[in-house]
Amino acid sequence: MSGENKDKGFATRAVHEGTKHYDGSVNTPIFQSSTYQLTEETYAGWAAGAQHTLIYSRLSSVNSEAVAQKIASLEMAEDGEVFASGMAAISTTLLALMSQGDHIVASADVYGGTYGLMTEDLPRLGIEVSMADMRDVSSYEAAIQPNTKILYIEILTNPVLKVCDIEAFSVLAKKHNLLLIVDNTFTTPWAINPIKMGADVVIHSTTKYLGGHSDIIGGAIVGNKEIIAKIFPKKVHFGGSADPHNCYLLERGIRTLDVRMKAHTDNAIELARRLEKHENIVSVLHPSLPSHPDYEVAKRIMPKGTGMVAFVVKGGDDAALKFMRKLNLIFEATSLGGVESLIECPFNSSHMFIPEDVRTEAGVVSGFVRLSVGIENVEDLWKDISQALS
Ligand SMILES: *Cc1c(COP(=O)(O)O)cnc(C)c1O
Repeated sequence: MSGENKDKGFATRAVHEGTKHYDGSVNTPIFQSSTYQLTEETYAGWAAGAQHTLIYSRLSSVNSEAVAQKIASLEMAEDGEVFASGMAAISTTLLALMSQGDHIVASADVYGGTYGLMTEDLPRLGIEVSMADMRDVSSYEAAIQPNTKILYIEILTNPVLKVCDIEAFSVLAKKHNLLLIVDNTFTTPWAINPIKMGADVVIHSTTKYLGGHSDIIGGAIVGNKEIIAKIFPKKVHFGGSADPHNCYLLERGIRTLDVRMKAHTDNAIELARRLEKHENIVSVLHPSLPSHPDYEVAKRIMPKGTGMVAFVVKGGDDAALKFMRKLNLIFEATSLGGVESLIECPFNSSHMFIPEDVRTEAGVVSGFVRLSVGIENVEDLWKDISQALS
């Protein structure tokens, strides 16, 4: 699906790739239509597998085609599909590529919804799951069985921001002839292109940085033509398709991804450095800080950094809650990647059902806070944080 701008820079592709012009429109208009006129051409496309043919909007729409092409281009992938949520993208992909009796290696650090799917639903369908450590590629290798089909990773984990050395995982996947599936939600194609590093499928919750404005739920996958063609019919069967208006908002959001990511990451590293020096902070996790355990890996695979910061407030979870509730500008909410800064404590949100000792073992110690740094003025953000900390 590589379009006419494939040799141009990231920012240019983010603005122009995929956009469909009708009657001279600068933007892709919203095609609020569930179905399309059947012509000789559409009948032929239908017979050939229906992908990228405008027939019925559960299959594809003008808007889903436009934005899927944009995302594929940003990820340096041949093809892509969009979904109604990140979880629709993940569940459809895994159920398309595995059957009863197959095995997948993942990690307890994966996104909570993905963890639930892997521990509750896949086993119920006769698919075996092993959990290993994304920081330790040899733990994945040790978990490989004769029936293993997929290695599943996230480049940057939630909420402790472990960095997963995708280059090492790619070598491992090739060695054992396995598919490497990468959730690139936290890092974005602005920071890293897993396809170029050997991933077979890259998945996004477009709800986060790609949408970028905390106004949609969405998902996307990209990969080569063959693998996307294998997953597409399952999108049609399971029905987790993105509607035209959702696709329109996503396309609009992605157009500014380049400038947004620069602002997110500049703000995040600045806040991380200042937090590290603050007397009421125990520790700060950000992959671009030399103190981060994966600093060297991050420097190699994602040198542009991330907009996510985690830190531990002195005084434990009570102090962390008190701090959060003293904030005026930064909003207490789950999710991430929007233009506005969002903050949460994992212990009473994403990780509330994980026993305290397991949480602590995973690095989510008492006082742990996760901050999705927005694109606001960094001095205003710091003013808000420092008044709440004192
Ligand atoms: C949010 C998220 C998901 C799930 O996406 P939804 O759009 O909420 O369904 C999957 N993976 C990661 C890393 C996420 O942050």
